[in-house]
Formats: sequence, C-alpha cells, structure tokens
Amino acid sequence: MSAAIAAAEAGVPTTIIDDNPFPGGQIYRQPPLQLRSDENPSTTSVRGQQLLRRFAALKGRIELLQNATVWGLFPQRALAISSNGGWTMIDAERLVLATGAYEYVPPFPGWTLPGVMTPGGAQIMAKTMHVLPGKRVLLAGTGPFLLVVALSLARAGVEVVGIIEAGGALEYLRAMPALLAEPGQFLEGMRYLLQLKRRGIPVYRRHVVVEARGDAELREVVIARCDHNWQPDASKQRTIEVDTLCVGYGFIPRIELALMAGCEMRFAPELGGWIPVVDDEFRTTVSEVWVAGDGGGVAGAIVAEVEGELAGLSVAESCGALSRAELSRRRRPLLRRLSSLRRFRSGLDRLSAPRPGLTRLARADTIVCRCEELTRDEVELGIEAGGTDMRTLKVMTRLGMGACQGRMCWPSVARLIAHRTGKDIAQVGPISVRPPIVPISLSELAAEQVVP
Ligand SMILES: Cc1cc2nc3c(=O)[nH]c(=O)nc-3n(C[C@H](O)[C@H](O)[C@H](O)COP(=O)(O)OP(=O)(O)OC[C@H]3O[C@@H](n4cnc5c(N)ncnc54)[C@H](O)[C@@H]3O)c2cc1C
Repeated sequence: MSAAIAAAEAGVPTTIIDDNPFPGGQIYRQPPLQLRSDENPSTTSVRGQQLLRRFAALKGRIELLQNATVWGLFPQRALAISSNGGWTMIDAERLVLATGAYEYVPPFPGWTLPGVMTPGGAQIMAKTMHVLPGKRVLLAGTGPFLLVVALSLARAGVEVVGIIEAGGALEYLRAMPALLAEPGQFLEGMRYLLQLKRRGIPVYRRHVVVEARGDAELREVVIARCDHNWQPDASKQRTIEVDTLCVGYGFIPRIELALMAGCEMRFAPELGGWIPVVDDEFRTTVSEVWVAGDGGGVAGAIVAEVEGELAGLSVAESCGALSRAELSRRRRPLLRRLSSLRRFRSGLDRLSAPRPGLTRLARADTIVCRCEELTRDEVELGIEAGGTDMRTLKVMTRLGMGACQGRMCWPSVARLIAHRTGKDIAQVGPISVRPPIVPISLSELAAEQVVP
C-alpha cells in the first residue's frame, strides 16, 4: 500500500495484486463487511486508518485487484494471476514485490493435533472473524507478537493461561540499549507486559513447548525449561491443560516470487532467513524489480511502510515522474527513520532468532512435512542418502511437493540438514520453487483467460 501510494501520488499508474479480499495486508487486515460496525471498524489502529484513508483517496489512480493470487512470475516481469475462477497474465513494466511473511513453527510431537495453531491464525480468528480459537489457550514461541496476541485473545474473552517464551529475561536487559532507539515502541512493549500482569497472565521465560498431547484433539501441553540454545531440559518439565496452543517462533519472508524473478539472495537469520539482495532504494539485482516489507526481511509493520515508500519513490524516479533531486530530498527523512527503526529491530532480532535447540524437538516419528506426511526419520534417511539440498531431497522423499510447496517444512528441514551434516545453514540453500507457487485447480487453469 505504501509503495503504491508513493508511486501513484507521483503520477505513476499503479496496480496492486493482493490475494486478500480487502487492502491492509496482515496487520491492517479488514473484517468482512457483514462484521463491520462503528464498534468494529475496518481497523482499530490509528496508523492503519491513516494509511487506508490515504490509499482510498487515490482510488482513481491505483487499480486494485483483490482476491487475486500471483502463482507464477516469468521473464520480463510477466505475472500469472488466478482470480474469479480463471487466470490471466499481466506484464509489469516495473514490479514491487511486497509479499510479507509467514510464521515459523518447528515440528514437535503433537504439533499436527487439532487445537494447535499459530498465534497469527488465532489473531485472525479473534480480531478479524470474531471467532474464539478456544476456551483455555497457551501461547508459545518467541518475540513480542506473542504478547500482542495474548492480550487480544484475553480481551476477546479467552482464558489465556500463559505465555511460554524461549528467550531469557537477562537477554532483554542486554538488548535494552538497542530497544531504547525507539522509545515509543519500547514503552508499548512495557505497556503490554503491564497489562498481562494486571490480567494475571504469566510469562514463563526460558521455556519451550516439547509436546502437545491429546487423542482426537489437544488436551494438554508439556513445557520444559531450556538453556540459552533453547535446548529443553527433560528433567524440568510440567504439564498444562489447555484446549488451544498457539506456537510461533517469529516469521519467515515469503520469497518465492523473488526467487522466480531470479533475484540474488542472501541468508540473514536475524531477518527470518533467505532474503533478496537489495540496494538502498530497495532495487533487487533483477532489472526493474524492487522488494519491500517483510518479504525482503522481517522487520515489522512500521519498517515495511517506510521501505514501501522508499521503493515507491524509487519506482517513480525510474519512470521519470520524480527528479533525482526530489527523490534524494524525499528519501533523507525516511532513511533516518529507517536507521532508528533498524537499531530497535536489531535488539529484538538478537533475542528472537531461532536457536539450535528447536531442531531437536521433533522425535523420529514426528511428522515434519505435513503435506506429504513425512516423519523426521524418513527425512533423515533421505538426508543420509545424499538429499542435502531441497531439490534433491524433494525428488528422493516428496518433501515440499504438497500444497505448501515446502514453505512450512523447508525452514526446519534446512536446519535439520545443517545439524546432520555439520554444514552451515546458509550452505543448505533456500526453498526451490516453480510455478504454481500456490495450489490452483485444474478448472481454474482450464478456464478461458479472464481479466480479474
Ligand atoms: C499472520 C500474521 C499476523 C500478524 N499480526 C500482527 C499484529 O497483530 N501486530 C503487528 O504488529 N504485526 C503483526 N504481524 C506482522 C506485520 O503484519 C507485518 O510486519 C507487516 O504486515 C508487514 O507488511 P508487508 O506489507 O511487508 O506484508 P503483509 O502485511 O503480510 O502484506 C503482504 C500481502 O501480500 C499478499 N500476498 C503475498 N503473496 C501473494 C501472492 N503470491 N499473490 C497475491 N498476494 C500475495 C498477502 O496476502 C498480503 O496481503 C503479523 C504477521 C502475520 C504473518
């Protein structure tokens, strides 16, 4: 939205393709029209309302293709898009990829049980769809997002029994100088902690979930104390009865389209893993392709907005809609803002980047690739037989060949390969992609090409 606003305000005809039914992305995701009222506006965030207002004011200048999914990207920025039960191709002269991120959940025994979900999933249910994910909920993983979701669930009437945070309290103290680079965000975090305390929701630091138990659905969760590598201590376990467990160890950038575009990638664990290489205008190494927001490295909504604006301005300059001098003038305050935000994020990233202990949570019979129902044992056999990159392991085991195309399993399997082979995780390489990157039905493909 922010990239489109910057480009369109400069006079560049702009199209947004988004698979959501309404603009807003993840953070300003809007509820369906039937669920909106004065008490339940499109977004409760002032920042989000401002962005949506600026966006709406440019209605005539930004073409908006909602419920439209890009499933392939071909040479010269040709996008394959499915929508309205059919599909079409759009050629973009310039392309900004702002695909966002998804949550990271390392496999552990019981993680496929009904009742186990991601914090983002629970948040969407409660905040957007007004459906409670459960009655007694435990949140686990790492990072401030857990606090945000815990409070929003508690406000919606869910009994939140606790937050299991892998990071330690001492580490927060060490990160303090970086966190203070953004006093507003730091205070917001403190306010969240205070509100949790007032509601009597405990935060168990240096703990991880080691097992989810139940027959047809979740009944109880086993947590354990862990060390600084997040390796659980089996002698320090306890069991908590809940009907819902939300697990998320941060976010992973959605890079499939950047990979398909042929962008050079680099491994940045603190930003969520593999990300496209960009210059300070957010241009990738592929001509006329930019990347902004969490899809270029997970850094949160405010950073995504600033990066989007920088990318949009750069696009406008490349079209001749903005002079080089005007671009430099407009970029200066944004870059200053970004530098302070990045300092803050570096503090958070040091706390939250997943650690090796998580790789060892899965047992031999734990499902690792959910789509193809492969266990850790089966995947390890493939690794031992030479499947040490995604393409080879895919051929040997079918890992990553299902509906998610490896999005969910590859981040943890790449860590498993690194652990088993002694390789650095960066040497294992990113996900391997080919179209379609999301499931499309044969009837959609067979349908006459439709303009969405
Ligand atoms: C599930 C979830 C919940 C979150 N909730 C919060 C929260 O409550 N508070 C908070 O501070 N932060 C939250 N975050 C983080 C925050 O949303 C992000 O930092 C921020 O939204 C990043 O903005 P973005 O524009 O880069 O990506 P996003 O906001 O994720 O926007 C990317 C958009 O691109 C669309 N898209 C991706 N691929 C395709 C494709 N192939 N075809 C068509 N469309 C595509 C996505 O559907 C999405 O609408 C959440 C993140 C997630 C994943």
